[in-house]
Amino acid sequence: MAPRKLAAGNWKMNGDLAALAEVDRLLAAHPAPACEVLLCPPAPLVQAMKARIGGGAIAVGGQDCHARVSGAHTGDVSAALLKDVGADYVILGHSERRADHGESDADVAAKATAAHAAGLVAVICVGETEAQRDAGETLAVIAAQLAGSIPQGATAANTVIAYEPVWAIGTGRTPTSAQIAEVHALMRERLQGAVSGADDVRLLYGGSVKPGNAAEIFAIPHVDGALVGGASLKAADFGPIVAAL
Ligand code: PGA
Repeated sequence: MAPRKLAAGNWKMNGDLAALAEVDRLLAAHPAPACEVLLCPPAPLVQAMKARIGGGAIAVGGQDCHARVSGAHTGDVSAALLKDVGADYVILGHSERRADHGESDADVAAKATAAHAAGLVAVICVGETEAQRDAGETLAVIAAQLAGSIPQGATAANTVIAYEPVWAIGTGRTPTSAQIAEVHALMRERLQGAVSGADDVRLLYGGSVKPGNAAEIFAIPHVDGALVGGASLKAADFGPIVAAL
């Protein structure tokens, strides 16, 4: 059976303990969602969010992890620690990490290997810049990022791929349905051979997903969910996205 579709929220560097009240609101409004629901808060909130959810139907994830198990890496967080404090997922290779911290495809693959070893599902992000799209390089960029970022041992159970055009993140702009469909079809094809169970790997779209465009995006072939930034911070916004999936 194919895994359930996934509505994933990326809080980025937003939120605090008081913001966990949004988790209560989301659970109250959607106690038994048809899809899987995931929230990825800043690392210091993972444990408190997990405790707040209790037995509720929301999984928790980190936004990054180090490739090493432990050691002298000040400020970094290991995949094993994320797992220990209640995470089941970790976002890797988000374009903000790639831009702000210079993460390469090889870095992302190494982190994904660490995530898998710790028992976390890796949500590996890929996406072209506006300049790359304008230059007609989108499909080549996505293919190269997939080839470089997906590690050995990736399966449909331990890996999710998120297509996030950099120019659509936080901008209110989204690709056309045809543009999303083109990239998702390419990703499905490129996963053959690279991932065991390629047809069942969940392919998320991310970038300015809102309650008003979620249903249209979720109707696109090979879109198995969303990675949502700004609209995941409030239950009033994220709830309708969850309900649309
Ligand atoms: P956005 O961010 O929904 O705020 O555009 C998406 C993301 O970066 O995951």
